[in-house]
Amino acid sequence: MNNPEGARMAELFVKAPLPMTTEVVASGSELIGNVTLSISENPLGVGGGKASAEIKSYNEARELAKSLVSHLAPIEKGSSTGCGDGRELVKTNTGEDQVVSPKLFGGSVNAAAGMQVISGSELPGKPYEKIFKTIADTLTAADRRLGAHIDTHAHGEASHCGSLDGAQKIYAAAGSNGDALQPLVKYFTEKLGFNFDVNEYAQQVRRSAEFAASSSFETWNGAKGINETIARGGLVRTLEGGDHDDPAHGHKENLITVILREGVSLRKEDFISANKGKQTFVVTFPQLIKKAEIMTVNPDPAEASLEVARKVQAGILFQLAHALVVPDGTQYLTVIE
Ligand SMILES: [Zn+2]
Ligand SMILES: [Zn+2]
Repeated sequence: MNNPEGARMAELFVKAPLPMTTEVVASGSELIGNVTLSISENPLGVGGGKASAEIKSYNEARELAKSLVSHLAPIEKGSSTGCGDGRELVKTNTGEDQVVSPKLFGGSVNAAAGMQVISGSELPGKPYEKIFKTIADTLTAADRRLGAHIDTHAHGEASHCGSLDGAQKIYAAAGSNGDALQPLVKYFTEKLGFNFDVNEYAQQVRRSAEFAASSSFETWNGAKGINETIARGGLVRTLEGGDHDDPAHGHKENLITVILREGVSLRKEDFISANKGKQTFVVTFPQLIKKAEIMTVNPDPAEASLEVARKVQAGILFQLAHALVVPDGTQYLTVIE
């Protein structure tokens, strides 16, 4: 393994956040209607990362979670998938203003790459750069506008997207925390309407570890992910990176929000300003199904539906593994459906 951080992750263990408490909350928007909001009774994570929450108590987290609801909105047609990073948008590479977009950690391509690698469609040892390019081509050919991000002080080989820069660490975290993450992966797989396959899951965890330990990352860096996105006409958002000497790079996420309602996302900037700078990670999981369908190659309908299910399960594992790498382990998990 060429990344000592990846090796360190193997020693850390997730504190499983389930059970969840659930209540129905009015959204205040006719377009969205009422949503069901659930919040984990314990924070999620291991404290592997630097994104630090100001909120430390369950009740405070619950109040903040409730305030999400009035900032939900329908996803803008044709908008590109942004990262689940909670920091505020400063600008985009094209000057476009996509406010309500789907969100997955890593943006369009890295989220799909996680799905492909962990579901076994890509083999250990293959250069990650090559996998990324192939997936960027596939998504573009399917008429998907690519999305990725940097932050205000990104330079050189780093994108300052924790997913692009830390891809190897994230695969390692998925590999080393498989048992601890299993209840959550099962929970979300079933919430998305798929059967959780425990044998397949064991293989996915093993593949994650093998891939992290392979030499696939030797030519990879986050800036390459950004360049590939721009080369295909994608949207690159610049997020607020905070003071130059801030080790958290402006990260102040207090929640990890999973949106299960199809076609809905968060007006992140409105949420931040309404809550005096408090942030939330946010991912829109129905987007995983769309990506899985694009990536599925099996021509037989029955086989294809199994392939989609495997990819969705793998995509969930990859997304949840981010929670072990970027945040400091004090964030509560919030689910909106
Ligand atoms: Zn990111
Ligand atoms: Zn930064």
